[in-house]
Amino acid sequence: MIKVKSLNSNSTKEIDDDAIASLDASLRGGVFVEGDAEYDEARLIWNAMVDRKPGMVIRARGASDIRYAVNFARENQLLMSVRSGGHQIAGHSVAEGAVLLDLSHMRSVHIDPTAKIARIEPAATLGDIDCEAQAHAMAVPVGVNSITGIAGLTLGGGFGWLTRKYGMTIDNVVSADLVTADGSFVHASEVENPDLFWAIRGGGGNFGIVTSFEFNLHNVGPEVLCGSIVHPIENAPTVLRQFDELMKSAPDDLTVWVVIRKAPPLPYLPKEWHGKPVMIFSACYAGDIAEGEEAMNKLRALGNPIGDDVKPTQWREWQTTFDPGLVPGFRNYWKSQDLDEISEGAVSVFIDAIETAPDADCEIFLAQVGGAMARIPNEATAYPHRAGHYIMNVHARWEEASQDDECIGWSRKFIDDMAEFATGSLYVNFMPADDVVRVSGAYGENMDRLREIKTRYDPENLFRLNHNIKPV
Ligand SMILES: Cc1cc2nc3c(=O)[nH]c(=O)nc-3n(C[C@H](O)[C@H](O)[C@H](O)COP(=O)(O)OP(=O)(O)OC[C@H]3O[C@@H](n4cnc5c(N)ncnc54)[C@H](O)[C@@H]3O)c2cc1C
Repeated sequence: MIKVKSLNSNSTKEIDDDAIASLDASLRGGVFVEGDAEYDEARLIWNAMVDRKPGMVIRARGASDIRYAVNFARENQLLMSVRSGGHQIAGHSVAEGAVLLDLSHMRSVHIDPTAKIARIEPAATLGDIDCEAQAHAMAVPVGVNSITGIAGLTLGGGFGWLTRKYGMTIDNVVSADLVTADGSFVHASEVENPDLFWAIRGGGGNFGIVTSFEFNLHNVGPEVLCGSIVHPIENAPTVLRQFDELMKSAPDDLTVWVVIRKAPPLPYLPKEWHGKPVMIFSACYAGDIAEGEEAMNKLRALGNPIGDDVKPTQWREWQTTFDPGLVPGFRNYWKSQDLDEISEGAVSVFIDAIETAPDADCEIFLAQVGGAMARIPNEATAYPHRAGHYIMNVHARWEEASQDDECIGWSRKFIDDMAEFATGSLYVNFMPADDVVRVSGAYGENMDRLREIKTRYDPENLFRLNHNIKPV
């Protein structure tokens, strides 16, 4: 007998051994409870602040297992979370006392180089995808940290170094297979279940459990021109304003993200700068390397950089550049806001924030998006913030629980101080769990349609452990 949280009240339900045994016998994966090694493997995720004990773990190894799990949760009216890569900052993939549907072993990636299509299971990491696709010098436009899971990233939108050239991750989804709340197995594409297809491109895990995706592949690499250019933070007021101007006419092949933090011990940075506040332009040119040099030279010409390691690099290596600073096991509290431009006032908030950062791992990210992404109308997919802008993300990151209040407080204060320079919109995949009131900011004008589709596909809100879109 085990106890699992009910769907609609704070009470728990007792599930007897026969019901567990019968479910377990139906699965290729299995049912695991506290004490099993697989239970801990499933419940521990990237953000070390999330240390929750689910009532039971159902590990799925395919779509059939997912159907059994969804039917089991619905018929017994149990609260259920779903985990793919387990990389979400909010940690919605694990809930205290709930059923944890663990997809983490569904990681296959199949490349069809002739059709230029990748068929990918939900928990494949971005590194898994790059590994298979780069065997054909191809890539799917995804994010920048190789251990992120493809399902959560795609369902929220997905952006990275190829977004300005080839669009967001969602703009490259050809179709997806899902298990919906009633246990049906459905295919979603522009022609089959088009409403559902629209909603899963940005609307998160609200509409069903994705069992696999089909993506378009593009020719990328195997080498690209990329790397980082570092400036002292004192030069930020001038250089960031010049950068903002330069980027307005930058080619789509060029993507530059700004990282403001205390300098890590980068090998190409003189030692005296290590640990001092700096501003880093991380840049990637996704096209011809010689053309890239021309575009990079304009970036290099800004201010007086103190370090520069931009060079031709294997795409797979570049896709792991940020990994060392983003390893699992740290405590994290991130918040996000969009900026139309980098104003003088915003720069002074960046500088104050980094000078008062409570931990050397705390940082501010500004990801420049637009290009191909911005040529798609806001209402074409559930993700509604298409015009060129900066997705700003403050990463509070630390190791000791005793630092929680200070680090979380720093992140919140920064977002409050930035509010007057921000647009009011934000990226759902960078929201912490306590950002409930800002879910409407993430979906903007698309919220009404999302709620209508949610009502049709999940009227009981079985899929509620997410940045939730409530049925009408
Ligand atoms: C270090 C780091 C770097 C990041 N970099 C980027 C980046 O460059 N670009 C970017 O766009 N984002 C980035 N993100 C955000 C990332 O996209 C989200 O954290 C995303 O949710 C991770 O997906 P996952 O499958 O690992 O998540 P999980 O934690 O497994 O799942 C998160 C949620 O997604 C939903 N979900 C997961 N799988 C399914 C499924 N199969 N069917 C239905 N719903 C599902 C559920 O609601 C679940 O709670 C980054 C995050 C981190 C922590």
